[in-house]
Amino acid sequence: MDIDLSPADIAFQSDVRAFLAENAHKPGEDYAAWRLNWFKLAGEKGGWDIPKWPVEFGGPGWTPTQHYIWEKETASAQTPWDLPFGLSMLAPVLMNYGNAEQQQRFLPDIRERKVNWCQGYSEPNAGSDLANLKTKATLSEDGTHYTVTGTKIWTTLAHIADWIFCLTRTSDSGKKQEGITFLLIPMKQEGIEVKPIITLGGAHSVNMVHLTDVRVPVENRVGEEGKGWTYAKGLLAHERTGLAGISRSLVALENLRKQAATVQRGNGTLLDEPGYRAKLAELEVDLLAAEYTELRSLASAANGSEPGPESSILKLKGTEIQQRIQKLTVEAGGIYSAAWGQSSAGHKFARGGMTGYLSSRAYTIYGGASEVQKDVVAKNVLGLRKS
Ligand SMILES: Cc1cc2nc3c(=O)[nH]c(=O)nc-3n(C[C@H](O)[C@H](O)[C@H](O)COP(=O)(O)OP(=O)(O)OC[C@H]3O[C@@H](n4cnc5c(N)ncnc54)[C@H](O)[C@@H]3O)c2cc1C
Repeated sequence: MDIDLSPADIAFQSDVRAFLAENAHKPGEDYAAWRLNWFKLAGEKGGWDIPKWPVEFGGPGWTPTQHYIWEKETASAQTPWDLPFGLSMLAPVLMNYGNAEQQQRFLPDIRERKVNWCQGYSEPNAGSDLANLKTKATLSEDGTHYTVTGTKIWTTLAHIADWIFCLTRTSDSGKKQEGITFLLIPMKQEGIEVKPIITLGGAHSVNMVHLTDVRVPVENRVGEEGKGWTYAKGLLAHERTGLAGISRSLVALENLRKQAATVQRGNGTLLDEPGYRAKLAELEVDLLAAEYTELRSLASAANGSEPGPESSILKLKGTEIQQRIQKLTVEAGGIYSAAWGQSSAGHKFARGGMTGYLSSRAYTIYGGASEVQKDVVAKNVLGLRKS
């Protein structure tokens, strides 16, 4: 595809830059209020708050180049934090498989960032082999509600979520993939218990969620009973594309170069060291290749296609690149990267370096482990068959 910017694209880029500069968070401004207002203002620009949503649901209908510009500009500007669970993962499922009532009920709140969603897929014995999930949903005799019992694990931000979209088992007969049903469950109700899991980097972002006899109205089922696997697979492709973080890595690599240039080594800086320079150069080449894969993915999305197996290439390469950036940041920060809290020793950029590095180990696990992405690429991109 052609990524030379046309005069119209350059005008769009200026418009985006002006919007981002004008509405950046100002020191002292209440963050929560600013964040919600930022999305409102972005919405008033014509769907800039939901760039990836289709036009019929309010999206801006951008060309691939416009998406590319937006990704790059927002990666380097100060934009509010946003969660993918409702906006980029559940919303496309509701648009494709939800009924009109569900779309009207859930999409506006997702758009306005009013509700937090979490993703209830993984279970203690169902991660890579997700179809092995056992959380049981039993339909009542009068067909009005399901009763759900089981345990979800690694549920990111379940402790602040209002709702969970959940894969449940409604049948044990036939292939494992066939008896799975996609349910939307409010978190704040009897029978749901959330227990924190503290990860390697010392953070509380993931949880164990126990569901015991949780009553879920049948209106909260997305699509048909037993077809949840089909919906879940589409959602995973959206998740993987989003996790690659290519634009953010481009900005991070640029920052890393600047940081390395401030680290004294002999008569020069770390940036003059051939070994470190070589690692940066390898990273840059891989990042460029990943950027072009992302552009191909954007181009097919703009033509109305769902993300395909290229989302696995992006997830695989994009997350490895993010880990390499974290590793090189720790290398640049040296022992000061190990300092926790408010230590003022060493370079400012080094603070929290080790925490970031340890947390980044999860990037190649969640959203589907790297080995699993390699399987998808081998089968669906390279056409290899199991021997
Ligand atoms: C920080 C974090 C956040 C997460 N957030 C969520 C969330 O919000 N919601 C949610 O539902 N889940 C979440 N997960 C779960 C995540 O999706 C799973 O951890 C992941 O799918 C791997 O499953 P597992 O942990 O059961 O490992 P396993 O599937 O047991 O895998 C163990 C190892 O075996 C390898 N392996 C497995 N199968 C194969 C195979 N067929 N071929 C080759 N190698 C294989 C894996 O690559 C891995 O190295 C999160 C995980 C983490 C770490």
